[in-house]
Amino acid sequence: MKKTLLFLLLPVFLMACQTQESQIITVNGAIPASELGKTLHHEHILVDFIGADSTGYHRWNKSEVVKKVLPYLLEIKQMGYKTLVECTPEYLGRDPELLKILSEKSGLQIITNVGYYSPWNGKFLPKHCYSETPLQLADRWIKQATNGIEDSEVYPGFIKIAVERAPLKPINAKVVEAACLTHKATGLTIMSHTGLAVPAFQQIEILKRYGIHPSAFIWTHANNEKDNNKHIEAARMGAWIAFDKFMEQDLKEYVDFALLMKKEGLLDKVLFSHDAGWFDPAKPNGGTFRGYTAIDNFLIPALLESGLSQPDIHQLFVINPAQAFKINKRLLPN
Ligand SMILES: [Zn+2]
Repeated sequence: MKKTLLFLLLPVFLMACQTQESQIITVNGAIPASELGKTLHHEHILVDFIGADSTGYHRWNKSEVVKKVLPYLLEIKQMGYKTLVECTPEYLGRDPELLKILSEKSGLQIITNVGYYSPWNGKFLPKHCYSETPLQLADRWIKQATNGIEDSEVYPGFIKIAVERAPLKPINAKVVEAACLTHKATGLTIMSHTGLAVPAFQQIEILKRYGIHPSAFIWTHANNEKDNNKHIEAARMGAWIAFDKFMEQDLKEYVDFALLMKKEGLLDKVLFSHDAGWFDPAKPNGGTFRGYTAIDNFLIPALLESGLSQPDIHQLFVINPAQAFKINKRLLPN
């Protein structure tokens, strides 16, 4: 009798375990974090620099972009990548429907975002960003996370913001505060185009003020900061340290950084990517496109030669992105 009961309850138990696993939101819906696979966590498919007042879907032809970009996605699919995180924010060329088409055609999982890019004197900010409060901005972003982006049925998988190099201006701080409120409501991770340490730590302080653990924060373009002690300090606090503009000429810098973080026991806080792409609608046929292969061609072989193991590579390109992008409200203990 007891055995029968156990047999009957087992599928229920297994289903409960499955639903408890953290999710990641791709343009084709939620997946378990364990299915993210090998990931490039910071790339671009299309970026439109014309400015928030003039950009829009009329600026590019989706099939022209697909024709140009698809071969580059198929190329990394072939290399064993499963996921590409697309970091172009709203008002800079984010196009959820285009990403969905490219995801379906390439077989790659693609992740898009919600949030605003606040440096460059607000060139990429909608006017309402100046008049509204952080709460009102967060409300707009939470709506996208809850109801989908416009009528695309695509949901954002993280929050993408950007701030000045240093120090934060009020408009930058407002965007960070809106990101904090959105994180607390949705569990979406905050990826912030930052660069130097000063604005990185200023942002971490804002997170803390909102009761959010630094592990909700990806310090984007941390490679611009040359003082590795700052990287170590932020990683010890829990923040993700993203060296995300890899090109072949940066090989030594990236390898040295990985070795340092390994020595410090902080390899589980490191993210690597290219910040490559992208189709530029202002240029004929989208201009020159930088592909996403340099990490596989140069960085991974060099890391292995310098003493990192295959499990370390798995940590960097599979486990860390899954941990960084899983939906999870990362709150400080009261
Ligand atoms: Zn970028």
